[in-house]
Amino acid sequence: MPTGPEHVHCYVVDGTLFDTGLGIGEVAWDSASVERIAITHFHPDHVGGAAAAAAATGAPVFQGGLDYAQCERVWGSSDWPERMAAWFTRHGVPDDAVDDLIEQGHAFAAFIRYALDPNLLYEGSTLAGWDVVELPGHADGHLGFLRDDVLVVGDHLLERISPAVGLYPASRPDPLGDYLASLERTIELAPRIAYPGHGEPIRNPVERARDLIEHHRRRLDETSAALGGRGVSPFEVSLQVFGHDLSPTQRRFAVAETLSHLERLVREGRAARTGDGRTVTYTGA
Ligand SMILES: [Zn+2]
Repeated sequence: MPTGPEHVHCYVVDGTLFDTGLGIGEVAWDSASVERIAITHFHPDHVGGAAAAAAATGAPVFQGGLDYAQCERVWGSSDWPERMAAWFTRHGVPDDAVDDLIEQGHAFAAFIRYALDPNLLYEGSTLAGWDVVELPGHADGHLGFLRDDVLVVGDHLLERISPAVGLYPASRPDPLGDYLASLERTIELAPRIAYPGHGEPIRNPVERARDLIEHHRRRLDETSAALGGRGVSPFEVSLQVFGHDLSPTQRRFAVAETLSHLERLVREGRAARTGDGRTVTYTGA
């Protein structure tokens, strides 16, 4: 991949291809004996190569119902970068980081060739012996695939980095609440091993899920500590929680991540959303 973490894993297991990478370069999909293609979530590095993989193999594509709806809403519209920019402006992000977003957004669109009209999957669906599990959080419609204690996990669990959980326009209202519930679900499912989209296989998924719950509990406390009686923008809160020294791209992730924590705090009665209609701010509760 052109950006960090510089690689994404696609897995082929008994004819099922999980995820397809970005839609760049030539991939010899036809040599991999692919009978069906399953997508964990609609982010560019997972769904971007789906149309090319389907064309090369003739295999049908399977994607989550909610995930495909978002995929179309986001990548199927030409004004998404502008809508995203307006959203960040509303949450206090300065113009330079927002301008950069519009430029990058349009450049990225060329690498996202998702497959049209896939077969839709839901909680409880099965696919070639794999049980479909909905694990919302990193993406609203994120799916995991479970078979014989093995979980193909996309970016729901990663070994070394905490998967990004951000609030974005037209997404579910409490992605961190969703994510914490999905981590609890992972602990209940108790897979023996998880295969993620990035990095090494996760040898102890239950322990990793517990660590991530702890991580977000701490971050919720840090976010709460940044609030007082005066309304502050999510951008300002992100400076306190993530520091000042971030690239424009990292800053946008930091603001989206801060927002998911602020909205969780609102639901826990620890913060209030304020603002004047044009901009959004938060206070401590
Ligand atoms: Zn990814």
